[in-house]
Amino acid sequence: MFETSPELEMILRTMREFVREEVMPLERPFLHYDYDTLDPLLEQVRAKAKSLGLWLPQIPQEYGGMGLSLVEHGYVSEILGQTPLGHYVFNCQAPDAGNMEILIENGTEAQKEKYLAPLLRGEIRSCFSMTEPENPGSNPTWLSSTAVKQGSDYLINGQKWFTSSADGAAFAIVMAVTNPEASKHLRASQIIVPLDTAGVTLVRNISVMGEKGRGWASHGEIVYDNVRVPQENLLGKEGEGFVIAQQRLGPGRIHHCMRWIGICERAFDEMCRYANLRQVAPGRTLAQQQTIQNWVAESRAEINAARLMTLDAAHKIDREGSYAARDEISLIKFYVAGVLQRVLDRAIQAHGALGMTDDLPLAFWYSHERAARIYDGPDEVHKRSIARRILSGYQ
Ligand SMILES: Cc1cc2nc3c(=O)[nH]c(=O)nc-3n(C[C@H](O)[C@H](O)[C@H](O)COP(=O)(O)OP(=O)(O)OC[C@H]3O[C@@H](n4cnc5c(N)ncnc54)[C@H](O)[C@@H]3O)c2cc1C
Repeated sequence: MFETSPELEMILRTMREFVREEVMPLERPFLHYDYDTLDPLLEQVRAKAKSLGLWLPQIPQEYGGMGLSLVEHGYVSEILGQTPLGHYVFNCQAPDAGNMEILIENGTEAQKEKYLAPLLRGEIRSCFSMTEPENPGSNPTWLSSTAVKQGSDYLINGQKWFTSSADGAAFAIVMAVTNPEASKHLRASQIIVPLDTAGVTLVRNISVMGEKGRGWASHGEIVYDNVRVPQENLLGKEGEGFVIAQQRLGPGRIHHCMRWIGICERAFDEMCRYANLRQVAPGRTLAQQQTIQNWVAESRAEINAARLMTLDAAHKIDREGSYAARDEISLIKFYVAGVLQRVLDRAIQAHGALGMTDDLPLAFWYSHERAARIYDGPDEVHKRSIARRILSGYQ
């Protein structure tokens, strides 16, 4: 069902080699926050990926991308996920990938030229500013930020947090209420806000599990205080903010799930390699212990199941669109996030103290990917919606 073409196999092989030889060696400065060493090297590797045509795998060819289907990009995403830097190197990292998609689907020609084109070229970065500290992000129809028409402008006021990658980004796509009287799904709009506009303050990079991050690897708190942008910065029609956000989330969840499967494969690989090497007594390896054997078998089964479920959801989106695939999307969002936590936990446990160090990416992922069960819809919300739809079929 998910057979790959010879052309895709060739791309996957090239990507695998590139990730192993060019990207993984950059993990050390990244994991040790040595950005001065990392940044120039990272830009060189990005330029190399671009020159080899391994750029924007998820974007249609007419926009300079590789034009892969969602299933094909899923395979690619799994390879890139095996290192924390993979998606950034190929310019398909969140939140830029989602913003590119929004601009392609909903942007005017002028918006595409000003914001999309430099984003696609990798010259600027962007962020998506929806969640607010005082409101539940899991109910995105409930927002306090407002965008009020004044003359030919919108005047935007609000406080956002967990605006990932805001630090150093050129613009944000901001969700704000444009019509408080409308029905809840039609209240808000998405508006492009250049981050150098007067009234925008990046208050802080939020410290997450002990780390503030920097640049694209950070989560910003932003205050929008009487921020004035022209009405032509509106994306789509007024009131379509929620609908556009939903469109973005379908493919976005496939990207995340396949990236998590990539993380699982790397963790699995590290665990199996180490289990064969590490002796727990002279001549007796960790791999000979039944507990480890159970972890290996359970992890293999869970990763394989997660991949098949995710490709199935991607296949359905490719054929029928995100709405038709909403059950499959909800299922993978919580299932694969759970597999990720379990596989990472086992890999760390198998490594003992080494698993807690930043000599391997396991501890980094363990702290940063705990959020997988929260962003893009917490587990409970997905379980609730899928269960309600299933149960309604029995009424
Ligand atoms: C690392 C990270 C990156 C993020 N990046 C971005 C970003 O770039 N842009 C952006 O706008 N936002 C971003 N977010 C925010 C994210 O979308 C929200 O955290 C998420 O939607 C949950 O909202 P909340 O944190 O307000 O939790 P709440 O909505 O307050 O929910 C808290 C908890 O309550 C439970 N819960 C909620 N609703 C229900 C329900 N109906 N039934 C049962 N239980 C429920 C869940 O366990 C949930 O975890 C990011 C978050 C993280 C952690």
